Amino acid sequence: MLLRDPDVSEDIEPDDSAYERAEPPPGEAGPREQFPRSSAVADLARRGLQDLGFEALLDEACTITAKTLDVDFCHVFKLRPSRRDLLLRAGVNWPEDHVGSVTMDLDPGSQNGYTVTSWQPTVVTDIREEDRFEPSSLMEKMGIVSGVTVVIPAPQDPWGTFGAHSREPRAFDELDTTFVQSMGQVLSAAVSKRRIEDEKARYETRLKRFAYTASHDLQEPLRMVTMYLNLIEQRYDDLLDEEGKELFSYATEGAQRMRKMVNSLLQLAEITTQEKTLEAVDANAVFEQALANLDVHIQETNAEITTEDLPTVKADPDQLSQVFQNLLSNAIKYSGDAPPRVHVKADRAGGFWQFAIHDEGIGIEPQHIDKIFTLFYRLDRAKGTEEGTGTGLALCEQIVDQHGGRMWVESEPEEGSTFFFTMPAATPLTS
Ligand code: ADP
Repeated sequence: MLLRDPDVSEDIEPDDSAYERAEPPPGEAGPREQFPRSSAVADLARRGLQDLGFEALLDEACTITAKTLDVDFCHVFKLRPSRRDLLLRAGVNWPEDHVGSVTMDLDPGSQNGYTVTSWQPTVVTDIREEDRFEPSSLMEKMGIVSGVTVVIPAPQDPWGTFGAHSREPRAFDELDTTFVQSMGQVLSAAVSKRRIEDEKARYETRLKRFAYTASHDLQEPLRMVTMYLNLIEQRYDDLLDEEGKELFSYATEGAQRMRKMVNSLLQLAEITTQEKTLEAVDANAVFEQALANLDVHIQETNAEITTEDLPTVKADPDQLSQVFQNLLSNAIKYSGDAPPRVHVKADRAGGFWQFAIHDEGIGIEPQHIDKIFTLFYRLDRAKGTEEGTGTGLALCEQIVDQHGGRMWVESEPEEGSTFFFTMPAATPLTS
């Protein structure tokens, strides 16, 4: 009987036929067994990477292993946070109410304890003749006398154990042990994948909380500072001497700058947490929109912006427009003394389009290249840079990242820079 945690919803019907224990001809050891075993491991790994949920994967690993090795029990025990005991997470042939509730002490004198401490697989032919460890009371209660137990590794410490056990004495050979170990490795990969997903979910929750903080808790006192600074200026400006006025202007500038930074952070948090609607978008139209938004800036600086025909990509149009706008605005801002000259093009790169925004501006020194995408990292070395907050490129990278693309820059100081980013193509490659 297959049992699973109560919160598992998927119903898994393993394909039994592939994992039947292939009996080697008399006198011939394992080779014939290796194929169904390795295909069982590969199949579990494939399903783990694809559609199978984590809990269902634990169940399936138990079912497949029990069937392949023809053992009475197969189970996954998870180390509890106290590291003092293990909880039965999934198992074949365990009583229904045991899974998710029964624990086993992590006694170094038990097979599980020994395995977790040594990180080595332990093979027991008959526990009654075993002198390395005592049988655990739980295993004894289930009548288990033989088995293989392996660690399910996680990056720093074991996540738990995976074991195949029988009620009869049995000599498990090296192939059996390798098989159980391989299944444990697949589970280990699934544990890592799940930890990354959990970490991502926690990160997003923190960002959402941050967005709330930025919009309420920070904006309100900032609004008050600005308001009272304005009032002081209106009422007491006449009383201030030149030095007082200068000091006062620093305070006002500081408040304005902080408002810009808070707004940028809020924008970044919103982009990260927002549900996106990816649609087929004509990048030409989006680019035109970005140009229109920058019209005044372009006129003022006499910028010359040229573009080749741009493709249709799968993107959120507002976010793509934001990327164009930030990169164009930087290309204009960091153009140096000559009027800005910017060229934009896109080339197909597999399933993506690679955009390139090239300028002939001041360029970036090699030691700054990797850092300029970092939030709030900025270099004060061009006219007009007091406008910036060092968030534009971080925002662009975040947007591109969330579309599954990449972003980078190539630059030559005093010669110019080319910012590249990729976006998924809306249509497949035609041969
Ligand atoms: P900001 O422009 O507000 O400082 P960004 O995140 O957009 O913030 O850019 C970070 C830094 O990268 C800038 O301070 C600037 O030094 C550098 N940079 C960005 N774009 C260019 C460019 N086209 N040419 C030269 N330097 C650039």
